[in-house]
Amino acid sequence: MIKRVAYFGGTFDPIHNGHLTVGRSLVKNFDLDRFYFLPAFHAPHKPDRIPTSGYHRFAMLSLATQNDEQLAVSDFELQTQEKRYTINTLPEIQRLHSNEKVFFVMGADSWTDINTWRDWEGVLLVSDHIIVTRPGYEISFDHVTDAVRERIIDLRGGKTFQALASGNERRIYITDAVRYDASATELREDLSDGELARKDDLPVEVAKYIEKYELYR
Ligand code: ATP
Repeated sequence: MIKRVAYFGGTFDPIHNGHLTVGRSLVKNFDLDRFYFLPAFHAPHKPDRIPTSGYHRFAMLSLATQNDEQLAVSDFELQTQEKRYTINTLPEIQRLHSNEKVFFVMGADSWTDINTWRDWEGVLLVSDHIIVTRPGYEISFDHVTDAVRERIIDLRGGKTFQALASGNERRIYITDAVRYDASATELREDLSDGELARKDDLPVEVAKYIEKYELYR
């Protein structure tokens, strides 16, 4: 059977248990062979804050995924050493997996902002996508075009994922398999205040790494 892989783009500054839960749930629910975290060199649509060095973000992702066989980290965007837009990265990643099915993954907040991305309709039409629910964010379809809307398969409410077997059409799957409330911004705020109220939201190895290298102070 054709292999299935997913790529989950983000800043991961730092990776938290919300991100990890997305990976683990989708591996199970979409029967994925590999789930890659794809740290951005610098998220182009989030210009307001310069992220922590890519080396540190990559190291934290590696520590967090080391014991899960299907979870992995891709250095693809960091290697390019320049701001990348998803519309440019996507075809190159698909080329790396020419005999596999590739899904791109995003959370509900990214979905809401999707029409601020460069060539967002192109992004949505050239690949399969999985949109995951995130506590505190609604998933609406008002902001996308009809061409995008007709590709949506809403799996919320316990529907199982079988549509894959039929045809090569690009689809946008909406799933509520993930319900984990965590946010990197809130974690950074806690850390800079010197108290980690939301400690349970960080993998232990990542918390240790942050302490060792005195990040987010
Ligand atoms: P911030 O709190 O600063 O927005 P973040 O926690 O969203 O940061 P990012 O690296 O910006 O972290 O997110 C990468 C991707 O992960 C985005 O698509 C985002 O929607 C998704 N995501 C982050 N946290 C969750 C969560 N708890 N549940 C589902 N998706 C999430």
